[in-house]
Amino acid sequence: MIFVTLRDSTGLLQVTVKKGLVSDEEFKKATEATLEASVVVEGDVHADARAPGGVEVQCTNFRLIANSIEEYPIKLGVGKELLLDKRHLHIRSPKVAAILSIRSAFSDAAREWFKGKSFHEVYCPILITAACEGGATLFPVKYFKRKAFLSQSVQLYQETAIMSFEKVYSIEPSFRAELSRTRRHLTEFWQIEAEVANADLEDIMRVKEELLTHIFSKIVKDCEAKFNFLNVKFTPPKPPFPRITYSEAVERLQSFDMKIEWGDGLGADEERMLSKEFDSPFFIKYYPRKSKAFYHKPYPADPELTLSADLLAPDGQGEIAGGGQRIDDYNELVQSMEMFQLNPEDYQWYLDLRKFGSVVHSGFGLGIERTVQWMLKLPHIRDACLYPRTPSRVYP
Ligand code: ATP
Ligand code: MG
Repeated sequence: MIFVTLRDSTGLLQVTVKKGLVSDEEFKKATEATLEASVVVEGDVHADARAPGGVEVQCTNFRLIANSIEEYPIKLGVGKELLLDKRHLHIRSPKVAAILSIRSAFSDAAREWFKGKSFHEVYCPILITAACEGGATLFPVKYFKRKAFLSQSVQLYQETAIMSFEKVYSIEPSFRAELSRTRRHLTEFWQIEAEVANADLEDIMRVKEELLTHIFSKIVKDCEAKFNFLNVKFTPPKPPFPRITYSEAVERLQSFDMKIEWGDGLGADEERMLSKEFDSPFFIKYYPRKSKAFYHKPYPADPELTLSADLLAPDGQGEIAGGGQRIDDYNELVQSMEMFQLNPEDYQWYLDLRKFGSVVHSGFGLGIERTVQWMLKLPHIRDACLYPRTPSRVYP
């Protein structure tokens, strides 16, 4: 008798191939089948507590479709780099597949929420000419005789679309040439981004909170078996998520003897420290102007600050979403571009939005891989994508 472990998209199944129950030819094929061979099995299903999944199939018909022609390179104990080089094979592992299917459920749940709230999905360009998040991390692309770039965020284009649809969202890739080799940065990642007309900072924070609350509760319900299989306990955090200001965050960090001055950006170390203080995602509001991009609206009561709010995840993870209210006044936006040494000429279409019936509006971008990394407690963000792209990896 031969035991065959069969894998398909629904999981693993144990099959017994017994001499006498299949033809001699079929039995011989079963003995020749190697690791990762593809096969077709017909048989009788029996409950068997000892078998993985609690059932066993007694084979009555065995067909070997294609055998492996070399020894399968992924074995117990191989290193992380080899697994990444062989990612095209490693994604066959039920563990990797479970992570990837939770990631897919994540965007499904987001779409469901947006649909229920009458948001309109828009599909923004990936090839662009104007930076959204600062020129240093743009990937240049040769565009015939001109230069173009890969999109860092679809925000600026979404801002154009709210004039037709009021509430829009996109689920698209972002590209950033970030050399920082952290456990939470990729050079290609996906964001769920949304932009809402007639919404201020407080409104958009509630959108983020409601969206995530829906995603979390939907995923734990729909993917319960996968969480169990991965041995991850995830309790959906309850809204409202705590809110602190940037200035409070700096005071807290200073009280832990961290070297930070008011006005500095919050780096990975600072965010990690703060995020250990909370056991649910939390907002940090009112970042200083110089630590944020040019489009953030200054806080009217203190123009050194912006109407911005990032969402940080606990357990040391740090930022999972950024966002806030956008500058809606033409002159204020031109001044801001000059302050950030950007050329208003490069942003004519974006400035046009403030010339013709501008409205108060706000939006956000949520990193999918980062959030999945946090939910599943993955040691590195690359584990949350099909094919990770980092400064040292664009293969396979
Ligand atoms: P960080 O400070 O961590 O680099 P950021 O301020 O540059 O983040 P945003 O520009 O606000 O991030 O982007 C929105 C979201 O996209 C982030 O909250 C994060 O979840 C995700 N994100 C940003 N950069 C990366 C990256 N390099 N790899 C993976 N996800 C990212
Ligand atoms: Mg960044």
